[in-house]
Amino acid sequence: MPLEWITYQDAVRLYTLDQVAYTCGKGLYRVHGGTNAKSGRRSMIEVNSIIATAGAMQASLKGNPSYTPPLNNTTLFRRDDHLCLYCGESRRAKDLSRDHVKPISRGGQDQWTNVVTACKPCNNYKGNRTPEQARMQLLAVPFTPTHAEYVYLQGRRILADQMAFLRAHFPRRSPLRERLERIAEGSSSDTVIS
Ligand SMILES: [Zn+2]
Repeated sequence: MPLEWITYQDAVRLYTLDQVAYTCGKGLYRVHGGTNAKSGRRSMIEVNSIIATAGAMQASLKGNPSYTPPLNNTTLFRRDDHLCLYCGESRRAKDLSRDHVKPISRGGQDQWTNVVTACKPCNNYKGNRTPEQARMQLLAVPFTPTHAEYVYLQGRRILADQMAFLRAHFPRRSPLRERLERIAEGSSSDTVIS
């Protein structure tokens, strides 16, 4: 299962520590090391876009259905595609905020299913009220991402093979699936570790 994004430097480290169980996806980088004094041969490591590491501890923890990824604004805004879920406007991250659907002061929790992306004017207008009290309608139901969805949401530029790998681990009814269809292949500088 997908675990996290790592830089190619960290990927090289895993290769050299012999912690790569197998690789998938395509080769992203060739990293050259020093030349062996005896053989005169130069070392080389090819880094793949997806690498599997030995050790199941992290995977079993994060693959558990009750696992909840940490909540942070960057990932929250990406979950909601940088749209204000009240007015539907697309904004840059600095113009967005975390709205508690049921306000904290009214017993609402700071958790994925009670938070949505809101532009600052909508958040200010809503204030200390529920959407019903403010007569505002939510455009989507807030959901808790699984770990695989969370990894996807953290990715910056995701390659087609990485996307296919991540999507294979999404729940069947993931709200993110539809969005993925729209994303064309880009280029990535990171390796996904599994
Ligand atoms: Zn708004």
